[in-house]
Amino acid sequence: MSIRLENVIKTYSDPESSGKVPVLDIQRLTIDTGDHTAIEGPSGSGKTTLLHLLSGLILPDSGSVTVLGTQIQKLGEAQRDRFRGEHIGYIFQSFNLIHGFTALENVMLGMAFGTGKTDRSRARQLLETVGLKDRLGYRPTQLSTGQQQRVCIARALANNPQIVLADEPTGNLDPASSAEVLALLDKVTKDKTLVLVSHEPEVLNRYSRRIDSITFKPVETPS
Ligand code: ADP
Ligand code: MG
Repeated sequence: MSIRLENVIKTYSDPESSGKVPVLDIQRLTIDTGDHTAIEGPSGSGKTTLLHLLSGLILPDSGSVTVLGTQIQKLGEAQRDRFRGEHIGYIFQSFNLIHGFTALENVMLGMAFGTGKTDRSRARQLLETVGLKDRLGYRPTQLSTGQQQRVCIARALANNPQIVLADEPTGNLDPASSAEVLALLDKVTKDKTLVLVSHEPEVLNRYSRRIDSITFKPVETPS
């Protein structure tokens, strides 16, 4: 099993009062190794918060978040950063590419944050895999949004993680590049655990394993 959440509660402080806003209440959620799972739910239902918890970017108020056998909530911040760098590839909805850096440098930076070792020829190879062989020296502003998302996929694979988390990976793309990016994502995560969150039916329909982000129960889909 790759991921197990038990009795996880996550609240945020309400910026407009001194109170707390409940965001997630997950009694139990498990994701098996190698599964490709889509988490679906409307905007504001806590999908991004869930991915942040899985990657140790934030901690739950209570409960346990076990990823690859490690209880994330027991790690300190530096340990969580290292764990994420080594085991988790994260594809952000808003790309989070570094604008002054080329595609190649962005992927190499992903390596530096992970294992600390950069490997230019592997970074090149990853960009070739995502179809950007002739864009290595381009900066994000010189790339289309579909190409930027491909750089993000290459960066997420930089340290050959076992788990890839994708936050609305086609949220900013037109339908044609959307389909291409999703096909690419499936291909490069064939031997990995993929957790994708989305609110778009055309994205969700590609996945046979779907979980509702309000109840955290499987979504019944016609087979
Ligand atoms: P989704 O990704 O499904 O759209 P999010 O996980 O981004 O949902 O947000 C879930 C809820 O948590 C929203 O109501 C949002 O306002 C609230 N929220 C998210 N981040 C914060 C934060 N840092 N501080 C306070 N509230 C937050
Ligand atoms: Mg979100």
